[in-house]
Amino acid sequence: MLPESLRRVIQLLSRLPGVGEKTAARFALQLMSDHQLSAGLGEELSTLSSRLRPCEDCGHLAEVPAAGKTLCSICMDPKRDGLKVCIVAKIQDLLAIERSGAMRGRYFVLGKLLSPLDGIGPEELPLDRLEKFLQKHLTEEVILATPPSVDGEATALFIARELESRGIRVSRIASGVPHGGDLEFADQITLGRAIEGRRLL
Ligand SMILES: [Zn+2]
Repeated sequence: MLPESLRRVIQLLSRLPGVGEKTAARFALQLMSDHQLSAGLGEELSTLSSRLRPCEDCGHLAEVPAAGKTLCSICMDPKRDGLKVCIVAKIQDLLAIERSGAMRGRYFVLGKLLSPLDGIGPEELPLDRLEKFLQKHLTEEVILATPPSVDGEATALFIARELESRGIRVSRIASGVPHGGDLEFADQITLGRAIEGRRLL
């Protein structure tokens, strides 16, 4: 019913999380009728991946600077307290916790979780970078905010053991978030309580 080129755009848009075919079609038709929007979006998207890199310190996304180290806005914020560091699996979880307002320290993004089934072992976790990060900020407490799933729990336990001998307090977020649930979709109050009600490991 629709021209081929428009169908291709709809198909691409419907690959986004939470976007079904109907919504994708609505987006595509809107983009088609608004040239300024579609041209702007196309231009921004085509150069986005070359302008962004993971922060060299924490793994969050950062704009690549003209010179020097690529650092994210949180790492560059001198008002942030590095004594407490919240470890998350992915950037979306960092954003969700940040929205809850319960964490005023710094973050560290693992990028992946241990997963024996998918063949992801400890050597794939950025442990060296984590070690440097904690040393740099003289961190006193690490809050493990990996998701309450099998992989998330295994990763939290592994990191807790790794940090055991470092004299760093290690805590785990409370189980306000349902098991197997996604932090990203937890509401701000639940997430805030999960951080506040964290328990020492
Ligand atoms: Zn950073």
